[in-house]
Amino acid sequence: MPLIDTHVHILGFPSFDDLSEQIRTPRDVLQFRKRFPDLYNAGRREPAYDNSQHLLEQMDRYGVTHAVVQPTSGNTTNDMVAAAVRAHPDRFVGLGGVGKQQRALGYAADPTASREQAVREAERCLGELGLRGIGEVSVRAITREINPEVIADDFEPLMAVLERHGNAPIQLPTAWTQYAGGLRYGDPAWVDDLANRHPAVPIVLTKMGRSIQHLFDNALVVALRNDNVYFDTVGTTAEHLRTAVRELGSDRIMFGTDWSATWRWVRDPGDVHQMRLATIDEAGLTTAERDDILWRTASRVFGIPVES
Ligand SMILES: [Zn+2]
Repeated sequence: MPLIDTHVHILGFPSFDDLSEQIRTPRDVLQFRKRFPDLYNAGRREPAYDNSQHLLEQMDRYGVTHAVVQPTSGNTTNDMVAAAVRAHPDRFVGLGGVGKQQRALGYAADPTASREQAVREAERCLGELGLRGIGEVSVRAITREINPEVIADDFEPLMAVLERHGNAPIQLPTAWTQYAGGLRYGDPAWVDDLANRHPAVPIVLTKMGRSIQHLFDNALVVALRNDNVYFDTVGTTAEHLRTAVRELGSDRIMFGTDWSATWRWVRDPGDVHQMRLATIDEAGLTTAERDDILWRTASRVFGIPVES
């Protein structure tokens, strides 16, 4: 059976090679930057290296056949993601990252330059590098506006790149991250205007509100109003997943783990693969609904040929 993990951040840093002392639970990841600022900063500034071997071991342990990989935040490049995909074309599909350095190390007051850079980089990712879409956008690197219509204006050139490349998918993160700033954009209500203007571009609201009730509710209403909006299951609850399947349909939902250089150290109550798969098991879904979430929706949205 195919099993597609649509949410993985590859690339690691030497200082993050063993975080078993610092990270045990999901809450430790959330607090890592504040509790270990020197280690956090050192890690994010170091040149990244390809840690996909660790990912492949973990995928094999849980029967994950394919992973949609994107760069982790920090001193990483999309060229490294493209190289990892070229090395494992039967296991990986790649997404480009934009604004990743600012996300890890701090946002510029004026996002104009990083917005323009993001547009050029997205073009390079989908063209020259052959990546399949754009991964979790660091929204604050694109805009500092809070009016959803003006945010959508600021996204216009980036969305035009996606449309030009066959309506390539884009991920927008919901709820919190381990990075400083930009929390406001984790409430996905603003995405309604963006999704409405670009109805052919698949927009994945990653984490579907991350189990926080009002963020889930807003994610759901945005998805109900826009057929091009999808969810991934990272950090959600069985209850929210059940509600999303009932209201939206399992053909709009995809499995994800959020495995990364920091999340890979979580082991309580389980590692990220155990935790995310357990949520799907606990949701009490039909076989057809599970198949949609575990591979069928992702196969369609990210264009991954699978044998079922
Ligand atoms: Zn992520």
